[in-house]
Amino acid sequence: MKALKRAIILFATFGVLLFAKSFMGRAAAAEASAGAIYYVRFSGQGLNVYADPSLQGEPAAVLPDNTYVQIILGPLDFLVKIRVYDTGLEGYADMRYLRRLDAAVFDYDVYTYEELEEDIAQLQARYPELLHVNITGQSADGRNLYELILGNTAAPRHMLVQAGIHAREYANPYLVMEQLEQCLYYYDCGYFHETSYRELFENVAVHIVPMVNPDGIALSQSGESALRSPELLQTVRSCYAYDRAAGRTKNSYERYLQRWKANARGVDLNGNFAPGFGLDTKATQPSYAGYPGAAPFSEPETMSLGAVTLLCRPCVVISYHSMGEVAYWNTAESRYTEMNRMFSSYMLSLVPYKRMGSGTASGSYLDWIYSGDAPVCSITFETGDTDCPFTLAHYPKIWLEHSLVMQAAAAYAYSHAAE
Ligand SMILES: [Zn+2]
Repeated sequence: MKALKRAIILFATFGVLLFAKSFMGRAAAAEASAGAIYYVRFSGQGLNVYADPSLQGEPAAVLPDNTYVQIILGPLDFLVKIRVYDTGLEGYADMRYLRRLDAAVFDYDVYTYEELEEDIAQLQARYPELLHVNITGQSADGRNLYELILGNTAAPRHMLVQAGIHAREYANPYLVMEQLEQCLYYYDCGYFHETSYRELFENVAVHIVPMVNPDGIALSQSGESALRSPELLQTVRSCYAYDRAAGRTKNSYERYLQRWKANARGVDLNGNFAPGFGLDTKATQPSYAGYPGAAPFSEPETMSLGAVTLLCRPCVVISYHSMGEVAYWNTAESRYTEMNRMFSSYMLSLVPYKRMGSGTASGSYLDWIYSGDAPVCSITFETGDTDCPFTLAHYPKIWLEHSLVMQAAAAYAYSHAAE
């Protein structure tokens, strides 16, 4: 918690210095969000509103959760100037505690594939110029595999964010969708450091694969009833029989399915790449976790993520997993260790997770992107501090840590990453 506070102070202080430079006398900058109503959330003891943009000293007001406010300037990093809807009081606050009342991506407990599809349709309708939606394939159980592109599809640089490759880690698809919506609704008024969101995303297109493994996620969330295909149902039952017999699980069938990581064919998608395919095999046949498949890219989900990656040639890649509040940044065989050391240090100054060591190749997505011809900076965040799947109760902390990751990574891609 201390490290998190430090990171916030670091960014907030930096923000304040630039706020004066970038914003004073630019009231029109906030035009895009003018009129929109926001509410306070995740504040705990209430959201402090300060007279001064340094967010120091005695707060002018403390707003309880669900207080309505309007944003009249910003955000710049974490900082916004707000007007309290009822009282008209104006002051400065931390934008991470504010949520638009008409947000499309809404607080969830179990964020399903169906909700994801609804949110994609709503965001596409609201921001047709800023968001492009591609269906890049279909899962074995007939669900669409999506790629969302934020910003200029013809941008000189591209970055990629992927989440939900492991079924039970389904808090992360929700997180990336909320990150995306925030970038969209502050597109014309937000700044990250010295750069406007518009400039950022016109120069760095963000390719988001929000739910790599929709079948596995549906299975983890809803059990057997989620599956449409009788063949896949049979596969899943065989997995349980195998894992029980092999001593790989002692769980009840219901709990076993909740703890599912693989796709509905029993393939652990984060072992279905190369190099290192099959070298760290924990299961020799389809299973809830650890079976890498018959061959690299044998699954529609990895084909789809692979194709998105090859087509957009990202210079920065963010991968979301859970749990442990740790970050993987390098592999033993990586060709890009030095550039990644810099990039991961930059990202870890924002998200204060523990840096992990470099494993040898095991067919993971990271192994694959680090073996490619194109230099790439990447970090894998493991969100949450409790076993998966976890509930909404664990989400506020994740949001506070990760709310600016998309902007920060885009800013890095814009200013640092290799062409
Ligand atoms: Zn994972």
